[in-house]
Amino acid sequence: MNTPLPDWHARAAQVRLDGRAFIDGQRIAAADGETFACISPIDGRTLTQVARSREADVDHAVASARKAFADGRWARQAPAARKQVLMRFAEKIHAAREELALLETLDMGKPIQYSLSVDVTLAVRCIGWYGEAIDKVYDEIAPTPHNSLALITREPMGVIGTIVPWNYPMIMAAWKLGPALAAGNSVVLKPSEKSPLTALRLAELAIEAGLPEGVFNVVPGYGHEAGEALALHMEVDAIGFTGSTRVGRKMLEYAGRSNLKRVYNELGGKSAFVVFPDFDDLARAAKTVAGSMFFNQGESCNAPSRVFVHESIADDFVKVVAATAPAHQPADPLDAKTEMGALVDDTQLKTVLGYIEAGRQEGAKLVAGGERARAETGGFYVQPTVFDGVANGMRIARDEIFGPVLSVIRFKTEEEAIAMANDSTYGLQASVWSSNLNRAHRVARALRAGTVHVNQYDEDDITVPFGGYKQSGNGRDKSLHAFDKYTELKTTWLRIDG
Ligand code: NAD
Repeated sequence: MNTPLPDWHARAAQVRLDGRAFIDGQRIAAADGETFACISPIDGRTLTQVARSREADVDHAVASARKAFADGRWARQAPAARKQVLMRFAEKIHAAREELALLETLDMGKPIQYSLSVDVTLAVRCIGWYGEAIDKVYDEIAPTPHNSLALITREPMGVIGTIVPWNYPMIMAAWKLGPALAAGNSVVLKPSEKSPLTALRLAELAIEAGLPEGVFNVVPGYGHEAGEALALHMEVDAIGFTGSTRVGRKMLEYAGRSNLKRVYNELGGKSAFVVFPDFDDLARAAKTVAGSMFFNQGESCNAPSRVFVHESIADDFVKVVAATAPAHQPADPLDAKTEMGALVDDTQLKTVLGYIEAGRQEGAKLVAGGERARAETGGFYVQPTVFDGVANGMRIARDEIFGPVLSVIRFKTEEEAIAMANDSTYGLQASVWSSNLNRAHRVARALRAGTVHVNQYDEDDITVPFGGYKQSGNGRDKSLHAFDKYTELKTTWLRIDG
């Protein structure tokens, strides 16, 4: 017997929406009482008002985080004790999974089935994994002369500011929180003004799990207000930023203008998906590119938005991609079967439609989609869109569109494919499809990207680093490598003779 699917609309009518900031273990309004509207992309309606944090609120949050760090209420707890708290935090997130998934979908428009199976699930795994890791990271002793000893220890940095985007609000928060908290830091998180609700709820769950007050604070607000105040703050030791390359550049400027805080930028992408004619299952490659491109409405930093296909197979390949696209037609995000939801807001809708128009004008051939959808709902939906005959110099091939728009570019030789794939300011992710082992390795090695897939695209796990070459950023999220971002290395010399 099939279990009936939950009625997400009924649940949405009852879910608690609280947009107040979270500072020093408490919900709190902005110091000047100002708020901004939190709009749902599903239908354009106002969900709730959110605290408009500014400099005074950021000062308050950073002071709480600094005090919590200085008195050691978290940093100096035994690793096993911190581990227990993070494991409980992961359990709390899991227990609240339906509520969190609902908030994520209402706030940023992704299908509820994926908020649940991807966003909440990966956040749980991330926090739990770093909790597990806390007491498995050992310090070192250097090979030093016989009369002295050099201990190399990792220490928490202090106060970590994190600024995250709206496309995976909970996962992005978890990728920063997991390693930063596990290492013993205090955190001030600024979620995107477009999707602040789940981060605020996570802070409540962390306190319920036993995280001491002041260790994790959330200041919702605009980038040029709360974000800038946090990134300029003299008491913030590092910024873990995920967002656009444009704003990542500002993070470096803010650090230069203030205390030279460490800046870890995880930025945009324009990932290449390179298909050779010797791959033995072209239909799978074509379906994979469509599935990966249209997942999350194309609002993924690692979306394979440039497909390079050998000219001998391009016509057949494009036919399968175009035929697969309609299966990703946008629908009601609260319907449990929906594959693609709404773009995050009206601005994003206009940007995406603007790029589709630019593709048409620059001479690319539209083979699927290309229009706004579901306008009658008041929400912000676009059809899954595929352009064939794209040149790598066109705007749709160069710029990160951050919407469901795929560009197919044809190539003649392996060298040409590699050169075009690498001819991008970005270098986040790439993939190569070939049944020739030598070619697959050769091309994977030549592609300038932080992650390269061979004959697949979507495999991912918290155990592996994620980040980009070139203007896709520096530093890496996930894996034990992320600890390096939020710890200082200290060398302590000890004299041991006499
Ligand atoms: P964005 O750069 O506009 O905003 C990101 C965050 O920065 C938001 O919280 C925003 O309020 C804040 N911000 C904006 N202006 C600021 C300023 N002047 N000072 C301080 N903070 C400021 O990006 P977005 O539109 O929210 O997200 C989309 C981008 O994020 C895309 O480029 C995407 O590729 C990237 N992204 C990258 C990764 C990755 O891991 N590399 C993951 C997800 C998203």
